[in-house]
Amino acid sequence: MIKKIFQYTTAAVLISAAVFYSKNNNRPKNIILLIGDGMGLSQVSVSAISMKNDQFKKFKSIGLVNTCAADKLITDSAAGATAYATGYRTNNGMLSVDPAGKILDTVIDIAQSKKISTGIIATSSLTNATPAAFISHNGTRKDEFGIAHQILKCGVDVLLGGGTDFFLSKNLGGKREDDFNLIDSMKYAGYEIVTSPEKLKGKISNKKIFGIFGGYALPHAKERNYSLGDLTSAAIAKLKMNKAGFFLMVEGSQLDWASDINDKKYLFEEIYDFNSAVEAALKFAEEDKNTLVIVLADHDTSSLGISGKNNETGELDVVWATKNHTANLVGIFSYGPASENFTGIEDNYIVGRKIINLISPNFGWR
Ligand SMILES: [Zn+2]
Repeated sequence: MIKKIFQYTTAAVLISAAVFYSKNNNRPKNIILLIGDGMGLSQVSVSAISMKNDQFKKFKSIGLVNTCAADKLITDSAAGATAYATGYRTNNGMLSVDPAGKILDTVIDIAQSKKISTGIIATSSLTNATPAAFISHNGTRKDEFGIAHQILKCGVDVLLGGGTDFFLSKNLGGKREDDFNLIDSMKYAGYEIVTSPEKLKGKISNKKIFGIFGGYALPHAKERNYSLGDLTSAAIAKLKMNKAGFFLMVEGSQLDWASDINDKKYLFEEIYDFNSAVEAALKFAEEDKNTLVIVLADHDTSSLGISGKNNETGELDVVWATKNHTANLVGIFSYGPASENFTGIEDNYIVGRKIINLISPNFGWR
């Protein structure tokens, strides 16, 4: 009896200690989070200034995010994504574990506990830092072969991205040193395997979908005959079947890679491709009226400067301050129910808490 009273008291304390970070009860049924990796305000400016069909100008709820890691002023993609995925900052290199290595629940874990469907799309390998923070827990982002093993058990309904290198052994064309064929294992875990994006069109499978379209990553946007928007639309078509709602994370992974090597043409093409995903998300949200769309970045890369314009071609001229990430604030753009929670200047992990609290209002924060 005493033990029972103690349990009730503990539960009451936990409930009274729960802080709801999103400030209203206007909770959306669906949430689509789009992450432009390394997409600083300059990259967004390129889109808004030079792109005919720019999507960023459609947003009315706009804010800024401080992207620091727990241990460093300048975050890497692992700690950056962990802040959004879990509502906690961690050290650079770590994926959804705290600096001491303790596992942190992700928004995917929490959505699944609420029977909400989940999806992850990336133009990198699914084992790369940003998607990996949502679907694995690991002390190091470098363990991409181990992360592939964890993805087997992640239970996410739609997974679309690259990564055969990490799922297949060397003798099957991958880069694994062991003999595993983890793509076959995904089949046994209940997934329909899709190896060509064209096959996503039309038929909506009752099974979970594992679409894997590249070795280390998807081809560059310019070299694909499908856009990130096409993948986003295909995922939404499947996920919207769940009456309880869905959470979908879409990453434009290669904006960062283009900025890392200061390649303007590559960057602009990836920005335009990322726009197609934002467009697909907004199109669905406008029709559905119960979907929150959030667009943000994990950090700025390269501190790009727009320095002029070619009068003949109209193309923007740019200067690069660095090939590294920076601590510049990044933008956050949101549309739909509860979007008013995502304005002002906020820390990245608070943004994560706000998203998680829209799915689980009573989630207990430490
Ligand atoms: Zn990043």
